[in-house]
Amino acid sequence: MEKRQELYAGKAKSVFRTDDPDKMVLVFRDDTSAFDGKKIEQLDRKGMVNNKFNAFIMTKLQEAGIPTHFEKLLSDTECLVKCLDMMPVECVVRNVAAGSLCRRLGVEEGTTLTPPTFELFLKNDELGDPMINESHVESFGWAKADDLAKAKELTYKVNHVLKELFAQGGMILVDYKLEFGLFKGEVVLGDEFSPDGCRLWDAETKEKLDKDRFRQGLGNVIESYEDIGRRIGIDFDA
Ligand code: UDP
Repeated sequence: MEKRQELYAGKAKSVFRTDDPDKMVLVFRDDTSAFDGKKIEQLDRKGMVNNKFNAFIMTKLQEAGIPTHFEKLLSDTECLVKCLDMMPVECVVRNVAAGSLCRRLGVEEGTTLTPPTFELFLKNDELGDPMINESHVESFGWAKADDLAKAKELTYKVNHVLKELFAQGGMILVDYKLEFGLFKGEVVLGDEFSPDGCRLWDAETKEKLDKDRFRQGLGNVIESYEDIGRRIGIDFDA
């Protein structure tokens, strides 16, 4: 497998073509951004930590029968993935109220949500990723109704697997964002799963361990990401 030209550089990852038209290389950079790119910093070791974190989680999800684009780790900061035709939507499940839900609905942070909520956001930086609903996705042609239904089903299935995994490490999976795409007609989990795209609290102290440490200037961001990883069995030195 040969890495070829850069296809796209996002806020934290870059994507490269390979000599196989069905495969791409994801490069996890140290860049960290929040508030639609208004706060940007380089955090030492972040690319390595998120790459290994994502590889571990994607492998767990695959073992649980959730199709993902992840193929294999290539280096500390790179992995090989399948090329998906991405749906331009973000699927968010919340087990506990935090972040934009609290701002939008005036709900107190920490309120348990039973059953967990499912929300959709349009991936559009210029518009600030507005919240949308399932009928918008279908009417604007962002995805077919049955593909969206599958993405929703898989998003809940991920909750089942990961809530348990993080609970075993003494953490609460508060919420998370997933992105899906199509590979040869099948709905497949794409993008990444790392502490950048989810909220995790210590189950006892309710300390924030995820990217909210960066958003809220709480410090020790990458130390905390590594702590989350170690608690679920990731060896970052491997
Ligand atoms: N999220 C993300 N990318 C985004 C927006 C949200 O990964 O562009 C994640 C975020 O980290 C959290 C969940 O989705 O785990 C819900 O985010 P929320 O809607 O509360 O928005 P925020 O408060 O992060 O702006």
